[in-house]
Amino acid sequence: MRAACTNLPVVLRPYEGELLYSWHARITALYRIPPGELFKFSASLWDLCVAPSTTVLPLLAEMTRLSSDAVQQLTISASGIAQAWWNIRQLTPDPLSPNMEYSYQPAVKFCRICLWHDSVSQGTEFLRTEWMLCVPTLCPIHAVPMEDHCELCGSFHFPTFVKTSRGFRLICADCSRPLAAPGFPCMSSVAPELRILQAFELALSRALNQRWSFQFPGAAAGPQFFLRTVEDLLWLLLIQPGEHFEYLFVHWLNRTLIPMPYRLYRYPRARPWLGDFSIKIRRGLVAHLAALVGGTTVRQQLSPHFLNRYSLGQALTALRPADAKEFRRRLASWPQMLKTLVFEPQSTH
Ligand SMILES: [Zn+2]
Ligand SMILES: [Zn+2]
Repeated sequence: MRAACTNLPVVLRPYEGELLYSWHARITALYRIPPGELFKFSASLWDLCVAPSTTVLPLLAEMTRLSSDAVQQLTISASGIAQAWWNIRQLTPDPLSPNMEYSYQPAVKFCRICLWHDSVSQGTEFLRTEWMLCVPTLCPIHAVPMEDHCELCGSFHFPTFVKTSRGFRLICADCSRPLAAPGFPCMSSVAPELRILQAFELALSRALNQRWSFQFPGAAAGPQFFLRTVEDLLWLLLIQPGEHFEYLFVHWLNRTLIPMPYRLYRYPRARPWLGDFSIKIRRGLVAHLAALVGGTTVRQQLSPHFLNRYSLGQALTALRPADAKEFRRRLASWPQMLKTLVFEPQSTH
C-alpha cells in the first residue's frame, strides 16, 4: 500500500511564470533530501515540465496545498500551444524493439542574464514555464542567445538548485557551475540580424498565443495565417530531398548571417520538429524562416551577401514530385500577402 501523503511543513510559493520542475527542485533543495523520500512518490521530467500525470497531479497538489489546476498551470501543456512547439525531443526507439513507440524528453532552455537579474533582484533564480517552448531562441528581453546546456561541461541535463543565504541558485547538475551570469548588452549594440530575428521570434510567440503583431512583415496577416505559413515553411525546410541525401531542403537556400552547421544532427529518424535540434541549429532554422516570410527587406538584412542568389522558386524545383505537390497544396491556403512576401522578386539594386 502506498504511504499516505503528508503536507510539507514549509511550502515555497511558485513565482509568477515558474516552471513546475523549478519549483519542485527548489523545494527539494530546501529540505536537502532526495525528492523520492521527500515526496513519497516520483515525478518524471514529463510530469514536471510538460503535463503532470493523473497519478502525480493530486499527490503534488495535496503535498503543496495548491489546487490541481494551479499545479497544472505551471507546465507547458496548460498554454494550449501545439506539441510541435514544445521544447521536447523525440528519442529514437530501441532498434532491437522496432515496435516500440517514439518517446519524448523535455529539454531545458534558459537565459543566463534573466537568471542573473533574478538573483540580484530577489535572491532566487528560477526556470520559466514559457522557456518550455522551443522558440524563442534569443531572450526576448536581453536579445542574447538562449542556452540549452552547461557551457563548462556540456551537460544537457536539467539543472538543480542550491540553497543560499538569500534564496536559490541554479547550478549544472553535473559540474555544479552556476548558470547565471551578468551581462548588460544595450539594445543599440545588438547586431542588426539578431534584432531582426528577435522581432520575428516575438511575432511568432505572439501568434502561438493567438495574438496579433504588426512589428514583423507578414505577421499582420493575423496569428492563424502567419503561424500556418511559418509551419508550412518549416515543413519545407526540413524535407529530405532523397533517400540517401544527407542534407535537407534548407541547405538549398542561401545562408543567413546566423550560423548553422551543414549537418543537422538529431536523434530520431522520424520527421523532425524544432525541439529535436540543439538550440544553435534551431536558431539557424528560425533565421531561415524569418528570411523567407519577412520579404525582401528582411532578406536583405539576414542574407546580405547572398541576396542576388536567393531564389526559393528555383530551389523548389529540386523537390521530389510528391513533396512539390504537397507544398503547392499547402500554399493554396496562404493569403496573397504572405505569398507575395515569400516569393516576391528581390530588388536588383
Ligand atoms: Zn534574458
Ligand atoms: Zn556543467
